[in-house]
Amino acid sequence: MKGKTLPQGLRRETLAVRAALPPSQWGENSEALYLTSGFVQPDAETSAHRFANPQEGYTYARTSNPTVTSFELRLAAMEGTEAAIGTATGMAAILLLGMGTLKAGDHVVCSRSVFGSTMNLFAKEFGKFGVESTFVSQTDLQEWRAALKPHTKLLFAETPTNPLTDVCDIAALADLAHNAGALLAVDNCFCSPALQRPTELGADFVIHSGTKYLDGQGRVMAGALCGSARWINDVFAPIVRTAGMTLAPFNAWVVLKGLETLDIRMKQQCANALQVARFLESHPAVTRVYYPGLESHPQHALAMRQQSGLGGAVVSFDVKGADPASLRRNAFKVIDSAQVMSIATNLGDTKSIVSHSATTSHGRLTEDQRQAAGIGQGLVRLAVGLEHPLDIQDDLSRGLDAL
Ligand SMILES: *Cc1c(COP(=O)(O)O)cnc(C)c1O
Repeated sequence: MKGKTLPQGLRRETLAVRAALPPSQWGENSEALYLTSGFVQPDAETSAHRFANPQEGYTYARTSNPTVTSFELRLAAMEGTEAAIGTATGMAAILLLGMGTLKAGDHVVCSRSVFGSTMNLFAKEFGKFGVESTFVSQTDLQEWRAALKPHTKLLFAETPTNPLTDVCDIAALADLAHNAGALLAVDNCFCSPALQRPTELGADFVIHSGTKYLDGQGRVMAGALCGSARWINDVFAPIVRTAGMTLAPFNAWVVLKGLETLDIRMKQQCANALQVARFLESHPAVTRVYYPGLESHPQHALAMRQQSGLGGAVVSFDVKGADPASLRRNAFKVIDSAQVMSIATNLGDTKSIVSHSATTSHGRLTEDQRQAAGIGQGLVRLAVGLEHPLDIQDDLSRGLDAL
């Protein structure tokens, strides 16, 4: 494992293409894909040593694999954390977080606007094991404070949220958590480290779905949990080794290569999203636009501070309509008139995606729950990609102009 050692102090854009394990003896310039489940040991003594000290050598790919290690090194370098650990999916990273930080009798405070599966994981699955969760307003710090209990161990936030792009104050939540003797985890899917580094603002852990912007081209499932070396190596790595929510080397390799272009993709997708958001704000058939990059967004100033001055690439909007039935009809018309954008529920792809939250991601809620969450039948969500923004505008105009 010979290779040049990188100098200290490299910037994120450089680390995104350079941070990795050194090349093999063949000197490959692009990181190798090690498709192997087992690793041959030079002798029984070394084998015994590596089994006892997994950091010192590879043994079996459920524990680790060099391609996965390169992904972990690169993501940690970009997030500015000491370490990271890859997982099979983003949800597996949140499962791992819970398994490592919680036990029966513990309490979690979580935003009620987080990803639906995250809410189910805390409320239903961890609930079965005696972990109690309280769900609070994304933006009202007072509610977070009031929900704290003596046995609160974890605060969990996601910012901006899907689909309404509500932004919470990471630094304020970190203070709240630490004053209460608890830890703060932030799901950084929507911003990625290109825009937002939660641990710089005081968070203890960062969650990623590699499936989204990190891959960025909608090819594989992946996830990661970033944090201190002590937590990753001493707490989370042994759980992955035992429980097996391991990231597959092929998927790790795809996302590793995706990270190389994360910064330029994110910047362009944010610029496209801002242009589309401004277009939507000026369209007479649109009654409201939700986008942190717009001055009209309630947490615009906070978002600009926290997200490197960029709004992200998810834009939602309400179409006009007199009642729930006509709102839905109009939203469907906009979605079905698109000839370029994909109708799908994923996000973080170079291909723009258009979706109807009330009947997809939030379709399992009752109408009352949806109303409380502010997700009406007229709401359309865009995950803006890399097409020319004028082509996205034209694609939206096809439906909007006909309303
Ligand atoms: C998609 C997503 C997840 C889950 O990631 P998977 O890779 O699909 O398991 C978690 N949080 C957010 C914000 C997401 O968008």
